[in-house]
Amino acid sequence: MSLWLTPQKDRVQGISLLYQSQIRWLKSSAVILATGGGGQVFTQTTNPKVSTGDGVALAWRAGAVLRDLEFFQFHPTALTKPGAPHFLISEAVRGEGAHLIDDRDYRFAFEYHPAGELAPRDVVSRAIFHHLHKTAANPTHAHVYLDLRPIDPDRIRYRFPNIINVCKQWGIDVFHEPIPVAPAAHYWMGGVACDLMSQTSIHGLYAIGETASTGVHGANRLDKKKIEQLREQLIKDDPEALVAVDVIEEYQGNLADAAKAIAIRNDIEGIADYGLSDWFLEMLQECRDFICQPKYQNLRENYLPALIPPLADCLAGSLGCLPGVAAIIAVPFAAYIKEEGMEKFCKSPNSQPSSPVATKAAQ
Ligand SMILES: Cc1cc2nc3c(=O)[nH]c(=O)nc-3n(C[C@H](O)[C@H](O)[C@H](O)COP(=O)(O)OP(=O)(O)OC[C@H]3O[C@@H](n4cnc5c(N)ncnc54)[C@H](O)[C@@H]3O)c2cc1C
Repeated sequence: MSLWLTPQKDRVQGISLLYQSQIRWLKSSAVILATGGGGQVFTQTTNPKVSTGDGVALAWRAGAVLRDLEFFQFHPTALTKPGAPHFLISEAVRGEGAHLIDDRDYRFAFEYHPAGELAPRDVVSRAIFHHLHKTAANPTHAHVYLDLRPIDPDRIRYRFPNIINVCKQWGIDVFHEPIPVAPAAHYWMGGVACDLMSQTSIHGLYAIGETASTGVHGANRLDKKKIEQLREQLIKDDPEALVAVDVIEEYQGNLADAAKAIAIRNDIEGIADYGLSDWFLEMLQECRDFICQPKYQNLRENYLPALIPPLADCLAGSLGCLPGVAAIIAVPFAAYIKEEGMEKFCKSPNSQPSSPVATKAAQ
């Protein structure tokens, strides 16, 4: 299949394709490329067999501008077992306390980043890659392990029933043995360069989905739900959201909730409209316990912005994100805690949030 261009090669007039041993020409004023990603160029990928980057190749052969082809997101912990699909073991597992270990039971992640397993996704992927290159005879097919045993078994059952089931299907009992994992190519941020209307450099040629490179993603990727939430916020023309866009691509994990938190940070009453997620409640509890430590007494008695840096520290540790991003997320937490009355929380740091908002969300 090829694109059929005008003789001046400046616009598309259709496609040509081989059908029943004959080349046929289909006229069209617009052609949309939507052939997905190209993960199959890598040995380890989560992508299906069809993800061979055909749309990007078609566009390139026609002379379209491509962009950032080297920007590929690798998921650090895809199940790596002969015959098994590269099933994704969620980052939340590391957030809950799972350790990455090698075949000598060595917890290596801290050699590569002070946050260890909670470093950003691309950092953890690179750490595993480098560690395998240092230690494995055949790094291309080697793996490390994700050990869930440091997590309370009830917590594993509550948070990760699907991971338990899929691993069981492949003969792995996560309660008694670590899961073999390796980084796998997951999402192609680069592709056919196009503008926000999906128009490529060739008139009449459009690219959408993973084939396209709109520039919305940086070298790291935002997922669709998260982009949607950001877009909604941007439509409201909130300059704070624009700040968030700058930093948010560095944030790894639970960004949907983070975006929600960003959206509500100047609108405490509005929390009820968004609903309080389990994540928000858990984090709130953690932030409250943290900020109620005696060493923060002065800050607590001070004013709201002073609460943000220590809360950001707390959140950066829990979420494995950079402090700059955590600072943005910390704002609604600080506001919420302040709004609800610090004294109440300090007297009873382990109590559940008791505001009408929280009660409404819990219903
Ligand atoms: C395991 C996994 C989990 C994911 N989880 C999430 C998630 O939680 N959230 C999220 O936002 N994203 C997720 N993604 C990414 C998301 O699924 C993809 O980015 C998205 O599906 C891409 O959509 P698309 O329409 O561009 O391409 P696709 O959905 O891949 O569709 C491309 C289509 O083009 C067809 N095609 C390809 N080449 C040709 C050809 N030469 N001729 C004819 N047809 C062709 C293919 O058969 C396919 O039907 C995940 C991806 C994977 C692999």
